[in-house]
Amino acid sequence: LMLKIDSKIKLNNELEIPLFGLGVYLMDTGNETRQAVRIALETGYRLIDTASMYGNERDVVLAVKESSIPRQEIFVTTKLWNSDHGYDRALRAFDKSMNRLALDYVDLYLIHWPVERLRKETWRAMEKIYRDGRCRTIGVSNYQISHLEELLDLAEVVPAVNQVEFSPFLYQKDLLEYCHSHHIRLEAYSPLTRTTKFNDPTIQQIANKYQKSPAQIMIRWVLQHEVIVIPKSSNREHIRENAEVFDFSISAEDMTVLDGLNQNYHISWDPTDVR
Ligand code: NAP
Repeated sequence: LMLKIDSKIKLNNELEIPLFGLGVYLMDTGNETRQAVRIALETGYRLIDTASMYGNERDVVLAVKESSIPRQEIFVTTKLWNSDHGYDRALRAFDKSMNRLALDYVDLYLIHWPVERLRKETWRAMEKIYRDGRCRTIGVSNYQISHLEELLDLAEVVPAVNQVEFSPFLYQKDLLEYCHSHHIRLEAYSPLTRTTKFNDPTIQQIANKYQKSPAQIMIRWVLQHEVIVIPKSSNREHIRENAEVFDFSISAEDMTVLDGLNQNYHISWDPTDVR
């Protein structure tokens, strides 16, 4: 895999998405988010992942607009929050996000969680938003295979992306295969397990072997599964470090060892039982 920081892959509607980006969950509004996004863009990141729920859509866009990078070279994702499900509410929530973002379009709009009962109606609204040309593509987040099966039954527009928790400790192999076979791209959140597994002995050993940090090993592992990855950091050194994953590759043997770390380990709430 000859990957670079701005390597892109094609989504199911031909739109290209960078494989690597910055997540901005748990960043303060104001200076923290704005500065992290500015540093990330300077470092070469070209995808920013925010959400209505994070409260920092405005700050993301301030940094995007302050940069000298043309808008079309930056991929901006935002998400519809759980209290905004239902057809009319979803349309209104999108308008509100767009007001905060103050962009002509958003690149990717995601349903944040598969909320019971209302999510089908919400998808109709997502399709309308997409058809109206207000976002370049639509997708979902935290959808398990059962939720995707239900969605694909009714969808006129197939979701382009499913953003889920994904790390060597939560290697969702069946979901990955299901998504790829249906032309849905998986996007990995909490790829660093929010640092909780940095001291795992296998991670430590492989990190030593490649002269890389645990964070870099985890990010590279995701990329080598052809999954989009969005590590979060608001620390200048970490933002750089997380991007230094394009000058090495993990061998097939070590990928298998890392795959074997799976223990269904969730940092966020597990959506498996959402009916
Ligand atoms: P993460 O990226 O796994 O971990 C972030 C944590 O790791 C932060 O505490 C960060 O601290 C630290 N960190 C980052 N790089 C580091 C490094 N090189 N060395 C040491 N520590 C480092 O967790 P996440 O924020 O949950 O997930 C990433 C993104 O995924 C989120 O920001 C969000 O965009 C998205 N997400 C989506 C959902 C969803 O439901 N769709 C849920 C969770 C997350 P510093 O800032 O101090 O570096």
